[in-house]
Amino acid sequence: VTAAGQGIGRATALAFAAAGATVIATDVDEDKVRGIASDTIRTAKLDVLHASDIDRAARDAGAIDILFNCAGFVHQGTVLDATDDEWSFAFELNCRSMFRTMRAFLPGMLERGHGVILNMASVASSVKGVPSRFIYSATKAAVIGMTRSVAADYVTRGVRANCLCPGTVHTPSLDERIAVNAAAAGSVEAARAAFIARQPMGRLGSPEEIAALAVYLASDAAQFITGQAVVIDGGLTL
Ligand code: NAD
Repeated sequence: VTAAGQGIGRATALAFAAAGATVIATDVDEDKVRGIASDTIRTAKLDVLHASDIDRAARDAGAIDILFNCAGFVHQGTVLDATDDEWSFAFELNCRSMFRTMRAFLPGMLERGHGVILNMASVASSVKGVPSRFIYSATKAAVIGMTRSVAADYVTRGVRANCLCPGTVHTPSLDERIAVNAAAAGSVEAARAAFIARQPMGRLGSPEEIAALAVYLASDAAQFITGQAVVIDGGLTL
């Protein structure tokens, strides 16, 4: 699991362990993952921006059954707000990292004839246009494209690849986005209310709800599901 230090990645590492998996929970900030280390969860530093770190992680881990690419960054803004540097950074973190981890871990899965890849996308992508998510949506649409491509290439070789498309989920980085938007919205509460208002259910999702979907998609119960962008969004796309 990448980006397991907080939010959805952390909840998923814990949920995988609770479901009986042996988990390697990684994050660029190792201090954040240390707290969930246990008999079944090994923690490690992994900066997904660095190819050499990913190759080393693959060597250290050996063959794995499930790869969950969770690391991602939310750029807020329209096409007119976006800079070339922000575009490049977001594609490095949200997309190239997944290309590299899949390239590093797939051979072990193919050798053993089974494996599951889960990539974190979003409803803000090719699934739905969301205001002020120009760069972010472009990266997450690319995640869906990569996932479908890998699913098609390895569908006969025991490897499934799916991505998760959450709506608005209450995580530490969402709180940061709320803080950034507070000035324009008038207050932190007004900024929070605007995020909640995007959700027809009238509430934010929890990291645990997304983790439960990840566990299902990784499990044998989902063996007939591959190449899908699975939406979990409290009705945002209704
Ligand atoms: P978050 O943004 O709160 O935490 C992100 C974690 O990623 C942190 O622990 C951070 O240390 C780690 N990280 C940052 N750069 C890294 C790097 N280079 N290498 C490894 N780890 C790195 O977590 P979140 O909000 O749960 O988001 C996780 C994923 O879910 C992201 O891909 C995000 O785009 C996606 N997502 C989130 C929401 C939401 O509403 N929160 C909705 C849809 C999709």
